[in-house]
Amino acid sequence: MPALLKNVRTRLTFWYVLALTVILLLYAGISLGLVYMNLRNNLDHQLEQDYEIIEDLINVRPDGSVSLEEEDDPYFHERWFEIWSTDGRRLYESRPFTGRSLPPLSSGAQEKSGFSFHSLKLDHDLRVRILSGKINIDGHWLYIRLVRSEEQLWRELHTFVLLMLIALPLAILIAGWGGYLLARKFLAPVDRMAETARRIGEENLQERLPVANPDDELGNLARAFNELLERLQKSFERLKQFTSDAAHELRTPLTAIRSIGEVGLQDRRDAAHYREIIGSMLEENQRLTHLVDNLLFLSRADARSFSIRPETLQLLPFVRQTVEFIQALAEEKNQHIEVTGQKDLVVRADRALLKQALLNLLDNAIKYSPQNSEIIVRLRSGENGVALIEVTDRGPGIPPEHREKIFQRFYRVDKGRSREMGGSGLGLAIVRWAVEAQGGTVQVESKTGEGSTFRIILPKEQEEGRKSADRHR
Ligand code: ADP
Repeated sequence: MPALLKNVRTRLTFWYVLALTVILLLYAGISLGLVYMNLRNNLDHQLEQDYEIIEDLINVRPDGSVSLEEEDDPYFHERWFEIWSTDGRRLYESRPFTGRSLPPLSSGAQEKSGFSFHSLKLDHDLRVRILSGKINIDGHWLYIRLVRSEEQLWRELHTFVLLMLIALPLAILIAGWGGYLLARKFLAPVDRMAETARRIGEENLQERLPVANPDDELGNLARAFNELLERLQKSFERLKQFTSDAAHELRTPLTAIRSIGEVGLQDRRDAAHYREIIGSMLEENQRLTHLVDNLLFLSRADARSFSIRPETLQLLPFVRQTVEFIQALAEEKNQHIEVTGQKDLVVRADRALLKQALLNLLDNAIKYSPQNSEIIVRLRSGENGVALIEVTDRGPGIPPEHREKIFQRFYRVDKGRSREMGGSGLGLAIVRWAVEAQGGTVQVESKTGEGSTFRIILPKEQEEGRKSADRHR
């Protein structure tokens, strides 16, 4: 592509001018044709009138010669015509244009009566229009040829063509220039958008592209870009926050391990004391491992590298197994976990992800409930074909202003207390992701001071689908 046509506005102007030129040339061509036909029709009409007048005035003498009545009328001095006999003799001639003659009439040129027209180019470039007719006067057949110059017609046509040759390029030039200015005006926002977009980087992600007119196509494009920037900015900020929170969380157990080690090295102690120090270090290490596991889980979730494999799950046995898995932790606090509710509930879910979510809820319930309390896991059907797993504890409850936020990463109602209990603030974020990834939702209900209920809502397995799946097994 030529360098000049590389930008859109010159390309637009080029195609616009090309289309306009084609249209104008067509228009000029058609107009020229119409003007020519109109002028020629006028000429033919004049010839016809002359023919009718002359036809009435012809006299044929008995010897076959021809004379015209009112021969001296000045009308005839201006008319060019010839009368011929059928055997090819010129019987009469009026020739006002001296020095010009028509070619002789070819024998048999006119077979029928009536008349016809044709154009002819005579010597000296004179173009003429000729009416040829055959008439019968008093039993004598005669040919009449009437001639009119086409000079005037061609002069007018030349003037018309000249006008077009001046007007067309002028019109194309003006329209092209106008088109270029318009294209430049309408595409100017694109330049401004590109300029701003080039400026936007990591440090000024909050900047937005200018939106000249939000309702037109370019405005729509700018809005779409701005929405994209909005999403990028949010995810960038989340990432920054996550990295700084993660670093902060990792620092706490690492600092603890270091200070335990430093204190241990200060004096010579007995083996039991060192054992205690190593035990504390291992405890911090376990915390660290748990935190790193959770971070890895979430980073895999963000990278969408989990392959979710939904399967048909009988909820009751699945929940019982999961509770058994964590039973030892509850027993440490002398807590009892009761599984109750509808026995025949079946859902379609990813076993590993649902287990992780339920374990996190049970872990929280155990952590935040007092000694000797009861935790209830209840299964029931909800409206619109959903199954509910509710974990209810007798813990401190969650104040209303924290209820939505507890699902955010690293968010904790009481940081000190949670950390003391080995929490990192990632458990509920994992629950929400794991449940939502398989089409479910998580809710929380709580009464401060009385306890909380966390609810996992999952679509139930379609009864019909399940039966037929069973039949096929
Ligand atoms: P953590 O590891 O701190 O438990 P989570 O994401 O699991 O992190 O929970 C976030 C916060 O929500 C907790 O710090 C705690 O304040 C609150 N929370 C979670 N579960 C319960 C519960 N069963 N009872 C009371 N508070 C809870």
